[in-house]
Amino acid sequence: MIKGVIFDLDGTLYYGNKLAHDAQDVLEILRKNQIDIFYITNNSTKSREEMAQKLISLGIPASSDKVYCSASASVQFLLDRSLKKIYVIGSKNLENEIISVGLELSSPSECECILIGMDFDITYDKIYDALTALENGALFVACNTDSNYLIENNILKPGCGAMVGAIVGASKRQPDIIIGKPEINMIAQLMNDWNLNTDELYIIGDTYESDVAMARKCGIAYSQIINNNATLLNDERELHFHHDYEVRSLTEAVNKLLELR
Ligand SMILES: [Mg+2]
Repeated sequence: MIKGVIFDLDGTLYYGNKLAHDAQDVLEILRKNQIDIFYITNNSTKSREEMAQKLISLGIPASSDKVYCSASASVQFLLDRSLKKIYVIGSKNLENEIISVGLELSSPSECECILIGMDFDITYDKIYDALTALENGALFVACNTDSNYLIENNILKPGCGAMVGAIVGASKRQPDIIIGKPEINMIAQLMNDWNLNTDELYIIGDTYESDVAMARKCGIAYSQIINNNATLLNDERELHFHHDYEVRSLTEAVNKLLELR
C-alpha cells in the first residue's frame, strides 16, 4: 500500500522557476487520496527551509520537514559519523549548516573530512587544499556527483560532479562517500523520520542515473518522466519509450502509483 510519494524537483515538479503544467493537479489528487508528499533533491546550495520556500513561491505548500536535500543530508551524515572538523568546498549555506549544528570548519591540515558541494567560486587554491587534506588522511565526502543540470532555455550548467571531478583528478582518488542520489542516504533518512517502508513509497523523477538508479537500489516503485526533459535536451528522444516505468507526465506517473494502492 503506497502511503507516500517522493518527488524529484528540477526536471520533475518544476523546470528552473516554472512549475510542471500538471503539478498542482497531481498534488491535489495525492492529497485527496491521503498520500504523503515528499521532495528530494541533490541540490547542495540550499537548506531544507530554503527549498521549501522555493516550492511555496511556486504555489506548492511544502513544509521543510518533507524536503530532503544533499546539503542537510550531508550534515546529518557528519553528525552520525561523529566527524567534527570539516574542510568544505561548497556554498556559504553549506558552511552555515555545518556551523549551526556545532561542527567546525577546519583547515586542510587539521580536518577529519572534506565535504564537497556545489561551489560557484571554486578555485585552484581550494582544490589544492582538498588535495592536502586527503594526503593528510581526511575522509572524502561528496554531496553528489551530478555532472550537470538543465535550467530554462535549454542551458546546461556544470554540477557538483565538476567540483568532485577536480579533486578526483588531483588526488587520483574517488569519494569515500557520496550522499545524494543515486545513493540511498536521503531515502534512508526519510524512511527513518517518517517510519515508512520501501513498499509504502513511490519515487517520481526524471533522471535515469540518479532517480531511477536510487529507486532501484532501495527497491522502491518508481516512474521516470521522459517527455519534458527529453524535449529540452533532444526533441528526437521524446518519441522513444522502451520501458513501462517511463511516463510522459506527472499525471501518468500518479495514475500508475494509484494503481498500486
Ligand atoms: Mg531532476
